[in-house]
Amino acid sequence: MSDFTTLTVAELNELQDQLQSKLETFKSQGLNLDMSRGKPSPKQLDLSNEMLDVVSSQDLLKDESGTDARNYGGLDGITEAKQFFADMLEVSPKEILIGGNSSLNMMYDAIARAMTFGVYGSETPWGKLPSVKFLCPSPGYDRHFSICELFNIEMIVIDMKENGPDIDEVERLVKEDESIKGIWCVPKYSNPDGITYSDEVVDRLAKMETKANDFRIFWDNAYNVHHLTDSPDTLMDIMATCKEVGNPDRVFIFSSTSKITFAGSGIGVMAASEQNLGLIKEQLSMQTIGPDKLNQLRHVRFFKNMENLHEHMRKHAEIIKPKFDMVLNKLETELKEKNIASWHEPNGGYFISLNTLDGCAKDVVRMAGEAGVKLTGAGATFPYGKDPRDRNIRIAPTFPSLDELEKAMDVLCLCVQISSVKKLVAKKQ
Ligand code: PLP
Repeated sequence: MSDFTTLTVAELNELQDQLQSKLETFKSQGLNLDMSRGKPSPKQLDLSNEMLDVVSSQDLLKDESGTDARNYGGLDGITEAKQFFADMLEVSPKEILIGGNSSLNMMYDAIARAMTFGVYGSETPWGKLPSVKFLCPSPGYDRHFSICELFNIEMIVIDMKENGPDIDEVERLVKEDESIKGIWCVPKYSNPDGITYSDEVVDRLAKMETKANDFRIFWDNAYNVHHLTDSPDTLMDIMATCKEVGNPDRVFIFSSTSKITFAGSGIGVMAASEQNLGLIKEQLSMQTIGPDKLNQLRHVRFFKNMENLHEHMRKHAEIIKPKFDMVLNKLETELKEKNIASWHEPNGGYFISLNTLDGCAKDVVRMAGEAGVKLTGAGATFPYGKDPRDRNIRIAPTFPSLDELEKAMDVLCLCVQISSVKKLVAKKQ
């Protein structure tokens, strides 16, 4: 079957009947499948089980500098963990702050602190200003947007393009509006598009003129080392670039080992200039005496160095690449020629982002749900849950088994076709 958009109303109606009867067959199977969860599968978690054995009662539980990991102290992390994450994020250990088990938690805290106290260089706490706005490249990570919503930070949608956010628009807005205090970025294998920002975009973000002198880039590098192929994307070093162009304090970098070791029992980490971290640590010292150092010991003794980390990530890729391939093959065979959907083939990360015809995403998610296939809610990838074109659907292939994924994709592709046919018929009538 070729291009749906060239079919007559009669042909589309006939097609609709055929597709609907196929969907009824799936419905009668009583499926209960879930493609909504961006979680590692149990097999992926198994890869890190040995980490639980590398720190036992028989081991010396001190870090390299002699700090007892069982006791209080070490607000920003143990020496070797700071070195490890500095290597991973290509910054200096002095620019590292290790947190608890979640980078999202650190992002939330960074916003909460900025609202209450301001950031390094702020004249006024953000929360005391008449209005605070954030730029939100979209589709993006729903939890970034939820944080803004909770703190009453107005979100401005910025289109995601093949090379990152629409940088012309970003530059134009930040130059003229002092209330724009930040931008959310998932710069590598973005959630959900799987796009890596080009060097030009990174460079322009680092050097753009901002009306707010305390503007921050929230650089959520969650998928930094999560490659799917042997020819990974490369991301320009934003911290070095910010320093070079005279904006050393502009970026807050975040990452974690949630999808490297154990989601929920990993290590969250933040990197920023020493000036930024100086202020943050002062404030943080009222909040905690320090994060879990035993978990840091476990991680560094398990990985030892970057080479082992990359080898570990290759094992993740071996498990999840066939799942990504399955999703992409289904999209290719079921939808490609029909001119009703588009997607980006990611080189890493956790998601595939599917764009339907305008106005179909909600309908597709509802229909798939009725057939027993749960998808991330339509609109979730946009600020306020509102996808202006109602077309983006986030597919999370990592958690289901290959068999489950195959069935779920069959249902999804059928629903996309049915919804598209309905849309095209309505347009043509
Ligand atoms: N950032 C992005 C872009 C994510 O996709 C996720 C999880 O899906 C997180 C952060 C959550 O990370 P953590 O488990 O470290 O809080």
